[in-house]
Amino acid sequence: MKKILLLSAIIFICIFSALHAQGTDSVTATSFDPAAATQKYLDILSPAQKAKSDAYFEGGYWLILWNLLYTLALGFVFLRLGLSKWMKKIAQKVNNINLQNLIYGLLYLLLAWILSFPISVYEGFCREHQYGLSNMTFTGWLVESLEQLGLTAILGGVLLVVLYFAIRRTGKRWWIWGTAIVIAFTAFTAFIAPVFLMPIFNQYKPLEEGPIKAQILSMARANNIPADNVYEFDASKQSNRISANVSGFANTTRISLNDNLLKRCTPAEIKSVMGHEMGHYVMNHVYKGILEMGVLMFLSFALVNWAFNTIVARWGDKLSITGIADIAGLPLLAVIFSVLSFFTTPISNSLTRTQEIEADMFGLNAAREPDGFAAVSMKLSEYRKINPGHWEEIIFFDHPSGRVRVSTAMKWKAENLK
Ligand SMILES: [Zn+2]
Repeated sequence: MKKILLLSAIIFICIFSALHAQGTDSVTATSFDPAAATQKYLDILSPAQKAKSDAYFEGGYWLILWNLLYTLALGFVFLRLGLSKWMKKIAQKVNNINLQNLIYGLLYLLLAWILSFPISVYEGFCREHQYGLSNMTFTGWLVESLEQLGLTAILGGVLLVVLYFAIRRTGKRWWIWGTAIVIAFTAFTAFIAPVFLMPIFNQYKPLEEGPIKAQILSMARANNIPADNVYEFDASKQSNRISANVSGFANTTRISLNDNLLKRCTPAEIKSVMGHEMGHYVMNHVYKGILEMGVLMFLSFALVNWAFNTIVARWGDKLSITGIADIAGLPLLAVIFSVLSFFTTPISNSLTRTQEIEADMFGLNAAREPDGFAAVSMKLSEYRKINPGHWEEIIFFDHPSGRVRVSTAMKWKAENLK
C-alpha cells in the first residue's frame, strides 16, 4: 500500500512537472516524434549493409537446422556403423564401471569433435571471415577450439561419471536426479567461469584508468555494484564485435566490457551499454536464468526419459543399448536432447530475450542515454538482423532486434527527456 501511495505521488509529481515544463519548453516537448526518430536511426544502414546483416543472421536460422541434421547423422555413425560398440569394447578393458564410463565419454567427445570438424570450420571460421566478423587466423581459431575441447573433456567427463553414477543408484527416477545434477553443475560452472574458464580465452583486467572509468564506476555505485566487479577484456583478438556481459555466480559475479566497446563507441554509447549490463547484475538475471533453465531442463529430462525408453524398448538390440544405465546409450541421449533443444529454441530464446528487455529498460533509466543506446543498437546490426518480422523475432532472437531497441529508446526519450 505504501508503495502504491509513493508511486502515485511520484506519478503526480512527474505529470505536474511535465505540464509545467510544457509551458516553458513546449517546442522540444511536442516536436520530438519517436517514430520519426526511430526511422532516422534505421536509415543509417545502407541497403547493402542491411542486406549483408540480414543474410548473416538468416544464415544462422539454417545453421540451427543443419546442426540438428548433422547431430542425427553422427548418431547414426555411432550407433549403426559400429563406432559406439568399438568404444565400449575399449572402455571395458578396465574393470571399474566409473572408469569405463569416463573412457567411453572422453572417446565420444573426441570423435564427435573430429567428425563435426567440417561444419565447425565452416560455422566458426569460414562464415565469420566471409562476413568480415573475425580477426582470427586459422591457427588461432584451431588452438581456441582445442582449448574448448579440452575444457569440455574435463567438465563433461566429470559430469558424465556423476550422472551415470546417479542413474545406477536411482533407477526409474534417474531423470529427476539428472535434472538436479545438471542444474548444480551449471551453477558450479558459472561460479568458476570468471576466475578459471574465461581467462583461458581472454585477458581480464580492472577497467583502464581514464575519464570514462569514473562515469562507469559512479553509475555502478549508484546501483549498489561494487566497483571492483567491473572488468574489461581483449575481445579484439577474436573479432571487432562490441559486447559486454555479466558472468559468475554468488561472489564471483562481475560485469565485463570488451575493448571493442571502449574503442568503437562514444561515452554516451558505453554508458548505455553498461547501464544494460548493470540491469542484469542488479536484477539477478544469472540466478533467475539458472532457475528458468532448471524448469526447462526438468521438462526436457522427463521427455528424454520417455523417448529413450520407447526407442530402446523397440530398437535396443539393433542399437546395442541395454538400458538407460548403459553408457552406450550416450549417443542416443545426445540425439534426443538435440531434437528437443531444436524444438524448444523459441522458448529458450524468449526466456533470454525477456531478461534482455528488462535490462534494456533498466539501462535506459540508469544511464539516461537513449541516443547512445539507439546508436549502439544500430552498431550491433553487424551481426544481428535489424528489422525482423514479429514471429521471426519471437522464434529466433535471444535479444530484442535493433528496431525494437531503437524504438524503445526513442519512446523513452520522448517521455523522459524534456
Ligand atoms: Zn544483456
